[in-house]
Amino acid sequence: RQRVLSGMQPSAGSLHLGNYIGALVQWVQLQEAYDAVFFIPDLHAITVPQDPTELAHRTRTTAAQYIAGGVDPDRATLFVQSQVPEHAQLAWVLNCLTGFGEASRMTQFKDKASKQGADSASVGLFTYPVLQAADILLYQPDGVPVGEDQRQHVELSRDLAQRFNSRFGETFVLPRPFIQKESAKIYDLQNPTAKMSKSASSSGGLVNLLDDPAVITKRIKSAVTDTGTEIRFDREGKPGVSNLLTVYSVLSGRSITELEADYAGRMYGHLKVDLAEVVVEALTPVRRRAEELLADPAELDRLLAKGAAKARSMAAPTLAEVYARVGFLPAT
Ligand code: ATP
Ligand code: MG
Repeated sequence: RQRVLSGMQPSAGSLHLGNYIGALVQWVQLQEAYDAVFFIPDLHAITVPQDPTELAHRTRTTAAQYIAGGVDPDRATLFVQSQVPEHAQLAWVLNCLTGFGEASRMTQFKDKASKQGADSASVGLFTYPVLQAADILLYQPDGVPVGEDQRQHVELSRDLAQRFNSRFGETFVLPRPFIQKESAKIYDLQNPTAKMSKSASSSGGLVNLLDDPAVITKRIKSAVTDTGTEIRFDREGKPGVSNLLTVYSVLSGRSITELEADYAGRMYGHLKVDLAEVVVEALTPVRRRAEELLADPAELDRLLAKGAAKARSMAAPTLAEVYARVGFLPAT
């Protein structure tokens, strides 16, 4: 079976509807056909300052949401990055193969560093894409399902794999990005030309997986819509309505065309009331299951430790081969 690998940062307490539709729902489908590796990149999270208690809490909450959303820890490999030391170890080797100029060209660093002020951004944030390359290359996956925003990083990991292979001999599989469909991209409810984002959206722009039904309903009902009254999919001219139609279509399994026909002659308010119900119905079982999992953190930690052991059994042989090729003496 081919292997895929993906992860979502524990950068907020809850994942949002974009993470759910754009990532989690697709992961659950992928784990049927692929050998799937899903992890929680907590090493990446500390590239910006984190409160330690919060970070631990968010890591568990993120894991609970992966499972509640349908990731099956028996079928897929589910683990927390910091529990598999090979990630940091391979990242060091790859750091030494990455050009300073090459790393400087990564647009995510430029964006995130400019928000913090370039001088206060950490060196960890600068080498973030190299750690990401290590995350990927350790598991030799065939595909890496990501959003368009991550394409450049997957390409860097290909370049590094190729460079390592040509310098030290064939070691790494060259990973390919599996770019998610544009139809799976969800926009900010208050600002529907920007993507819904854990770190960039205001709370009004988000629907979180762990929000209770009253909050979800309120957020959808106060979503920004467009001038005019017609309920029609038009990403350019009607970004607000189009975003609502996308969410509706994905969660109900009905096509956009079908929805447009159903809502012909009706008002934005009707669409929102119905959509709020569809979203609440889809997310309530996910929230309940996540709450159950979080009620027993010891059991959750045990599951994650098991996942980490499984991940190490895949990652350790890759790292051992890399170390040998680089010329590091074996420890035995
Ligand atoms: P941050 O603001 O911290 O970058 P994020 O909301 O962008 O958080 P990520 O952790 O960067 O979320 O992304 C996790 C996964 O969710 C990725 O596969 C990404 O492509 C997907 N994703 C994130 N936001 C959206 C969105 N608005 N629509 C669809 N998919 C999304
Ligand atoms: Mg992001």
